[in-house]
Amino acid sequence: MVVAHQTLASVDPAIAAILEREAQRQRLGIELIASENFVSQAVLEAVGSVLTNKYAEGLPGKRYYGGCEFVDEAENLARDRAKELFGVEHVNVQPHSGASANLEAYLALIEPGDKILGLSLSEGGHLTHGLKVNFSGRLFDAHFFGVNLETGFIEYDEVLAKAKEVRPRAIIAGASAYSRAFDYKRFREIADEVGAYLFADIAHPAGLIATGQIPTSIGHAHVTTTTTHKTLRGPRGGMIMTSEEFGKAIDKSVFPGFQGGPLMHVIAGKAVAFGEALTPEFTDYSKAVIANAKRMAEVFAEEGLPAISGGTDTHLMLIDVGAIGLSGKQAETALDAVGITVNKNTIPGDQRPPTQASGIRVGSPAITTRGFGLADCEQVARLVSAVLRQPDDPAVATTVRGQVEELASRFPLPGVTPV
Ligand SMILES: *Cc1c(COP(=O)(O)O)cnc(C)c1O
Repeated sequence: MVVAHQTLASVDPAIAAILEREAQRQRLGIELIASENFVSQAVLEAVGSVLTNKYAEGLPGKRYYGGCEFVDEAENLARDRAKELFGVEHVNVQPHSGASANLEAYLALIEPGDKILGLSLSEGGHLTHGLKVNFSGRLFDAHFFGVNLETGFIEYDEVLAKAKEVRPRAIIAGASAYSRAFDYKRFREIADEVGAYLFADIAHPAGLIATGQIPTSIGHAHVTTTTTHKTLRGPRGGMIMTSEEFGKAIDKSVFPGFQGGPLMHVIAGKAVAFGEALTPEFTDYSKAVIANAKRMAEVFAEEGLPAISGGTDTHLMLIDVGAIGLSGKQAETALDAVGITVNKNTIPGDQRPPTQASGIRVGSPAITTRGFGLADCEQVARLVSAVLRQPDDPAVATTVRGQVEELASRFPLPGVTPV
């Protein structure tokens, strides 16, 4: 009882100190993890609100609990804004994460034991697209297509050939480490040809798709799933989009199929983020995300660090650090030491195991949110290259660490008071 009105710092100094140290890490570092972003003060406020106290099983107007009149309004706003943003007929904003959204979407339309076909994890796919140890690989008979090992691009004729051979019940078009736009129209033609459902998983490029920077899956895929926290820049969570035809099946699969009470504070945060994404500023942001990524890819190429497929259409690129004799793990560790955060990633045809990998995945969404422009991104790519060329040189690390802090300090972190 006594703690009810006390601040976090007085009740739990240990956690308060951790939050402060994490804020400092985010402030002084350069965040290049392609799946991360910085939400606005407004989104942070919604997520840290009293809505976390509310049970609201069911959908707006059809809840299993009383007292839902206000959270209903919040969820309706989230749904309406998402529909407008993506131009889609039906959305469910309740999935707790991108992985949950995929589980719920698959089992709305297909059955355990059915065959699914997706991009292999080692060539850019996601673990929820059929990895053996994931629910998707345990529940379904998972098959994979890859990318062309020479070009790094998906070859649609090969996807078609694979689909004809496998005859999957569902094809999953989506990736976590593929720098090119997907041709969803072509994917749908392939799905139609073999009588499969098409699931598009736009977890990564959702914000770029919402603002029309790259082609959309809406109107092509039977169901589109996404996260809300990557290029869409909302709170951590998931969402499912579909046509009227499959709306009921999706809603039932989310609840009561898999989830109990929705996270209403997160849904309010999603509504705020979708509202932000509908503004002209967010379209400008999405354009800058792509321009910044392209600039970094060019600089890396000049520095002898080629991007798989020769560049990017999106917010991310996969850099072949094996080209200069490093593993992805070595690169990740060396960059971590100077305050630049990336993740190691396998590259197509990788000869190293996933725990080592030959690539790093580099993304522009987070630094673009902080306001980094083309010249800043060029500097970032030069700093990364300097470290990777001499990963064991402490003098290089010290110099770069200083430059990273100097650069990062020039750009405020949204929602966090400056030091
Ligand atoms: C990030 C991602 C997911 C999973 O999202 P979580 O919120 O981490 O569960 C699913 N699919 C793809 C393609 C992703 O990139």
